[in-house]
Amino acid sequence: MSSDRSIVRLTSAVAAVAATTIAFGPPIATYELGRQADVGAISAEAEFLSKELSQLIGSNPLLWRFEEDRHLDILNDPGNSEPNDSKLILDEDGRVITELIGAGGRLGGPAIEARQPIFDSGVQVGQIVVRRSLAELVQRALLVSLITLPLGIGVFIATRSLPLRVMNRAINHAEFLASHDPLTRLPNRGLFHKWLGEAFKESQSAGTAAALLLIDLDRFKQVNDTFGHGVGDKLLVQVSDRIKRLLTDDDILVRMGGDEFAVLVNRDVTEDAVAWLAASLIADVSEVMRIDGQDVSVGASVGISFLGDFDASSPDAVYQRADLALYRAKSMGRGAYSFFDENLNKQLLERRQLEKDLIRAIENDEFRLCYQPQVSRQAHELVGVEALIRWTHPSQGEIPPTRFISLAEDTGLIISLGKWIIQQACLDAVGWPAVKVAINVSPAQFRQSDLVSVVREALDCSGLPAENLELEITEGILLEDTDIVIQTLNDLRNMGVGVAMDDFGTGYSSLSHLSRFPFSKIKIDRSFTRSIGVDEKATSIVDAIIMLGKILGIRLNAEGVETEAQAAALDAFGCDELQGFLFSPAVEKSAIDAMVNNPDPSRRTSGLELLQADAEWQEGWEIRRRAH
Ligand code: C2E
Ligand code: CA
Ligand code: CA
Repeated sequence: MSSDRSIVRLTSAVAAVAATTIAFGPPIATYELGRQADVGAISAEAEFLSKELSQLIGSNPLLWRFEEDRHLDILNDPGNSEPNDSKLILDEDGRVITELIGAGGRLGGPAIEARQPIFDSGVQVGQIVVRRSLAELVQRALLVSLITLPLGIGVFIATRSLPLRVMNRAINHAEFLASHDPLTRLPNRGLFHKWLGEAFKESQSAGTAAALLLIDLDRFKQVNDTFGHGVGDKLLVQVSDRIKRLLTDDDILVRMGGDEFAVLVNRDVTEDAVAWLAASLIADVSEVMRIDGQDVSVGASVGISFLGDFDASSPDAVYQRADLALYRAKSMGRGAYSFFDENLNKQLLERRQLEKDLIRAIENDEFRLCYQPQVSRQAHELVGVEALIRWTHPSQGEIPPTRFISLAEDTGLIISLGKWIIQQACLDAVGWPAVKVAINVSPAQFRQSDLVSVVREALDCSGLPAENLELEITEGILLEDTDIVIQTLNDLRNMGVGVAMDDFGTGYSSLSHLSRFPFSKIKIDRSFTRSIGVDEKATSIVDAIIMLGKILGIRLNAEGVETEAQAAALDAFGCDELQGFLFSPAVEKSAIDAMVNNPDPSRRTSGLELLQADAEWQEGWEIRRRAH
């Protein structure tokens, strides 16, 4: 800032010098050169006249003073005088003998004069004075200054404002950068909020239906990850061009950051027109793009709200509504647009809040793993544990995984959370050599191709043998049927890690799934376990599944065992493992430690009794018993 000021000061000084030179230089030069010429001229004239007069006196001594006419002739001779000069002849005492008033005498003002002595036979008898007024010269100089003065002022302004203009341009440029996205050159979030505010005011007062569309690209992250950021950047530019083509001059397209854009439809539009715009926008953006010789494609989801809605209380509310609508569009399966609607507001807001809390929860270590024992057939000895995540929300307390796992999957948070679960479970399980640890893995983790390396790293870091680890997957993963999924499963099996099919009997249960991949375990869903002895058909299905497992050579686990009768039936059917509240709910790591470290193997199950004495366990048990 201070250097800016000194630049301004310096240029002001330079401008002043330049302006002064231009304004006053030419008139002063005109005056001074003219004066010097005049001085020369009148000196020469005076000298000439003095000589002529001296001659006259020489031929007519003593009488010369009375020969005024002759004097005047000489003085008036146009050959040796300027008409505007005034001339005087004085005697040796300074008295005027002859006086010729020329124009110079009349003009008055500043004057120059030249004197020369008049001689008679070598003796000075008088002098000639030639006087010239400078008035004309002054006038000329003033005339010149009439041109140069404004010129100087102009030069001063121009020179002085030059750096200011440069500075202004720099400021404008900086402002542009601060308010625009350098990649797409679109206005950014800051400018958007300003415009939204203005459009909101106008729309509310005029009652027009201006609309806000928030656009979020689908699969952009994948494009970035697969093709690199260079391609991602070019894609964003193409996307912005495609959207621009659909807009009128009144509409504003803004890049909100990342892969989010916003369109302010700044005119009176119908819902149909906005729907058409949103649909065209999704269609255009979703069309394959050719970037750096590769075909790349993304999708788009759009959330819409209207600025003129009477219950939209502020520009922020309009924005939030569009954001919620976008959120809904995304959860509708992406590639969709959605209008804000009041009914879903509350529900979505809660979900949104939970999503935010979830991000914070990972940073704040609000998660921990509990382990639910899995026991052997008949002996009911501890053979495995299933890691189940627990979230203690700072204000809402315990939040069950059923409420937040799907949210974490939708938002992609499951990737980092899942990684933490795998690492933590492996670390915890190192102390339980004879116990397998089972970890639930979400489909999203499979889609991420680095699941194998995450598992390998967790095993390496913890020192847990691969044989002690089992991943539980649901059939949904196999439905995706991509080579990556089968490859990942095979890599895991080759490492020695077990893979269990979770919740078998629900969903798409297809025997072909069981034959396509060598599962190490099938987990019979608790809905079947619950119906043992209650529903005859369901009971025989359980029996059949267990038989099937035997034929295929896959171990069986029955989940949700809550009663002795269920346990007895499962034991009789030959189910390899039992898991459920009858034995224990998921408990803290320390409780499993206590069970595993019990030196008497025959008392392993009584480890469960030990557990049952645990106050926390009792509490959980009661809650669960009452719930069922
Ligand atoms: P799941 O994989 O089927 O896990 C078993 C669920 O059944 C657990 O609920 C467990 O507490 C409950 N359960 C166990 N024994 C009984 C019983 O006798 N009766 C009844 N009614 N329920 C029993 P939880 O812990 O609430 O987990 C629910 C679901 O959340 C899990 O179902 C799993 O899909 C998901 N989940 C839990 N932890 C994780 C995790 O670490 N990663 C992933 N990806 N998902 C998890
Ligand atoms: Ca499970
Ligand atoms: Ca299950």
